[in-house]
Amino acid sequence: MKALENRIETDGTVLQEGVLKVDKFLTHQVDPVLMEQVGAEFAKLFEKEKITKVVTIEASGIAPAIFTGLHLNVPVIFARKSKSLTMNEELLTAEVYSFTKQITSTISISRKFLSEEDNVLVIDDFLANGQAALGLVDLCRQAGAKVEGIGIVIEKSFQTGRELLIEKGLRVESLARIGSLENQTVTFLEADA
Ligand code: 5GP
Repeated sequence: MKALENRIETDGTVLQEGVLKVDKFLTHQVDPVLMEQVGAEFAKLFEKEKITKVVTIEASGIAPAIFTGLHLNVPVIFARKSKSLTMNEELLTAEVYSFTKQITSTISISRKFLSEEDNVLVIDDFLANGQAALGLVDLCRQAGAKVEGIGIVIEKSFQTGRELLIEKGLRVESLARIGSLENQTVTFLEADA
């Protein structure tokens, strides 16, 4: 998605060890105009799949997921990273190792929001080693829901996440694919690479 690549080039900052900071438009301050375009693009990519729910993880997956849900006209569920006192019903849970925080946390979704009737689109802001996406897929499968695919805003294609998800038979659609962050420079993969 050209508008997203342009924005990464102007407003993204490469930190050490292959981490991209995009807090000007995605992970802290959010650009709703760009997120609306992102949501429209995901909705178009998955329009044939009869998606019934969009599932993401707090916090930075929420903005792109909301706009995707808006365009698909379906509810959006975000998995929680810490248990809230109000979550007193049956929970689906999975363990996820965080690439950026380097800790394992238990993510959860209330059982009542997903069922075997659901066709789910999983959305996340970044794909690195695929652990967040796999955790979300695990939660959906525990509920018997079908995962139709995974929509990623920014994929770091030099990490193992995409291969891992594809090996598991999952469809992965990423709107920007980064081939390298070497020398503090963002290099994108060609569209069909
Ligand atoms: P994975 O689980 O695929 O290893 O990592 C994906 C998660 O880690 C995303 O939910 C995102 O929050 C975070 N993440 C991974 N790489 C980056 C990065 O380069 N920049 C930022 N801002 N977050 C990242």
